[in-house]
Amino acid sequence: MKWETTELSLVNFNFSSKEEGKYLISLQDTFINNLSPFDLEARCNFKDATKYDYLLFCRNNVLNWTDENIILIDGLLKEIDGEFKQRGMVIPFIDNINLVKTTSKEEGGAMGYTRGNTIYVADYIMYKPKVKIKEILTHELFHILTRSSFPFKQEMYSIIRFTALDKIIDLTTMNQRCRFVSNPDVSNSCSYIELKDWDGKEHRLLMTTLARSNYHGGSLFKYIQPYFLELDSEHNIMTYGDNLPVRKSIYGEYYKDFIMKVGQNTGYMVNPEEILAENFRIAILGEIDEVPNPEIINNIRNGMTKDNFKKEN
Ligand SMILES: [Zn+2]
Repeated sequence: MKWETTELSLVNFNFSSKEEGKYLISLQDTFINNLSPFDLEARCNFKDATKYDYLLFCRNNVLNWTDENIILIDGLLKEIDGEFKQRGMVIPFIDNINLVKTTSKEEGGAMGYTRGNTIYVADYIMYKPKVKIKEILTHELFHILTRSSFPFKQEMYSIIRFTALDKIIDLTTMNQRCRFVSNPDVSNSCSYIELKDWDGKEHRLLMTTLARSNYHGGSLFKYIQPYFLELDSEHNIMTYGDNLPVRKSIYGEYYKDFIMKVGQNTGYMVNPEEILAENFRIAILGEIDEVPNPEIINNIRNGMTKDNFKKEN
């Protein structure tokens, strides 16, 4: 194990003011700069929305934390830290995580999402049971951790047989007729899984999300469909004429091999990052005998155990 570790209790959680949150949410990071025409329309809820329409919309949805919110979240983070400690688990090194409260209208009403080292939390989840809020925070924490340490990301991805590369895949260069749907939790670094087709031949596949139709109103989430895009040996997306990617439904010929490799602990199968965030949540908070593939949970726990670092460092 090569990644530098810390403990959750040593991380500074910064509850951002509305002003600071507006600043953070307006940063033109790779997520913002790679939004597709579909992404912008579905998030702004109108046709031909631009990046600047979206940034303004983001800013207008940032809220202030209340004292009650801060006490609640702080208490839950301490409970999550307790779970790590009880299992002897450590996390990749990170010194600061920002928490920004928004209406979440800017991200289709998601309960939470992340960009950089910031977790954006939907205001409405404050009214959910504590156990649910804790689950959301743990899930989002995973995205921050994979972003903060590439060796950690590689190790976690390998548990579900994905290979994480530091090569950037720029989907904006593809034909936008295929309607890419961006996910702020997923970086545009390439990752792939090798799966067998009906004839037993292996294919390198990148998992991503596309919209099932053009935007015509309603929530972003009702459009999202997961797909595999086929990669060549140099990890370039294979295309047909017109620069349209070769895409395959995840429920087709690769599905059996896919399920064998990534397990069935979650139904949230849109990309490896989300599959792992859900398995991570179970590894930290859940009971192992309640899932169909406990070996994945065990591998996450073992991979993050303090004792393993002592042995190998
Ligand atoms: Zn997520």
